[in-house]
Amino acid sequence: MQFYSTNNPALRASLEEAIFKGLPDDNGLFMPVEIPRLSDHFLQNLRNYSFQEIAFEITRNLLHADIPENEIRRIIETAIDFPAPAIKLDDETYILELFHGPSLAFKDFGARFMAQTMSYFNRKEGNELVILVATSGDTGGAVAAGFYKTPGIQVVILYPSGKVSPLQEKQLTTLGHNITALEVAGTFDDCQTLVKKAFLDSTVTKPIRLSSANSINIARLIPQSFYYFEAYKQVADQGKPVVFSIPSGNFGNLTAGLLAQKMGLPVAHFIAATNANDVVPEYLASGAYTPRTSQRTLSNAMDVGAPSNFARMLDIYCSTWNNMRQDISGFSFTDAETKVAMKEIKQRYNYIIDPHGAVGYLAFREFQKTNPGHLGVVLETAHPSKFIEDVESILEQTIEVPERLQSMSASEKHAVQMSTDYADFKAWLLSRYTI
Ligand SMILES: *Cc1c(COP(=O)(O)O)cnc(C)c1O
Repeated sequence: MQFYSTNNPALRASLEEAIFKGLPDDNGLFMPVEIPRLSDHFLQNLRNYSFQEIAFEITRNLLHADIPENEIRRIIETAIDFPAPAIKLDDETYILELFHGPSLAFKDFGARFMAQTMSYFNRKEGNELVILVATSGDTGGAVAAGFYKTPGIQVVILYPSGKVSPLQEKQLTTLGHNITALEVAGTFDDCQTLVKKAFLDSTVTKPIRLSSANSINIARLIPQSFYYFEAYKQVADQGKPVVFSIPSGNFGNLTAGLLAQKMGLPVAHFIAATNANDVVPEYLASGAYTPRTSQRTLSNAMDVGAPSNFARMLDIYCSTWNNMRQDISGFSFTDAETKVAMKEIKQRYNYIIDPHGAVGYLAFREFQKTNPGHLGVVLETAHPSKFIEDVESILEQTIEVPERLQSMSASEKHAVQMSTDYADFKAWLLSRYTI
């Protein structure tokens, strides 16, 4: 499969190049040159395929020229080893639980698939690959869990001391093995600056094979298309047109849904659900795109003022507002509305939803007002216990914490203390990873 840059359709890259570079040199985003349709036989018989078999068929259809079939099978079996069940609230409303992976958020799908794919391409290299990631919290946890014990790959995660939640810090600092956490005495921007400087420093990149694992890597988008098919399979027998409501920040998840539709999944409509950071709903309503500084909200993994995947969405719709509006509706909600929805879902359906999923639920209810007769699948992007303080205080009850989270909380923190001085970071990298 070939990729081009959203800034320059003539620029081409292979899958391997696109994965290891992350971003094209012209600062666009990689997009597949062709998104092949799946066979009608597959699309009409989804119910006969397990989730792993669906993931395998999609990946084979996209990447058969890049990765041998037996390796694709191994990648899928290792990366996609947890389910994505669609839970029924009522005849027209389902919740797609995407939190059954190790870090309890949908980002596990992308991180685990990327880790296995990188490991495959790195197999012929003598050197270990060192992945550098700066995190403000959430992404780092999924990357750490995703790359944990992946052969040939070391991961270094830089996080700002005192500025991530206690649970997020546990996710970064307790795994060990090939995952090393650097606790930086500074801000997230300081972490990002250290990482950027290392990538530009040939005295580091010559002796050490560096790569990034940022959220716009195309290898994350591919596996996020799998669960749209898996969800569709579970609700198709209801016979209603299916719409997906997607709580969104950087819009990677929604973009993956658009790819699924291009591959032939008969999705009737997409709903872009946001908190107060509403630049995309605003664009869909008015045609004006005005990126701006993000605001802090209850659903903080969606606090994005300039969504990185918007360029991919525009690319899919040839930058035509009217085309995009035909497939996607946008709605935004306040924290107060989100809290009411969380309580309502608990009272009416005895289901505990996290603040991000609640925004998706609200958006589907809004869509229903003018579009009756649809079946809505609301993506639940994280387990409510990831936001336990907020969820317990809003619902006025204690909630259950999954075993994998409890054991993490009990493990001991290991982090290397690091200043914001690049010379220190560089010296540490060279002493640790030069052979
Ligand atoms: C990352 C994240 C989102 C936003 O996903 P995008 O693909 O960036 O739109 C939503 N909810 C949770 C819990 C997340 O971690």
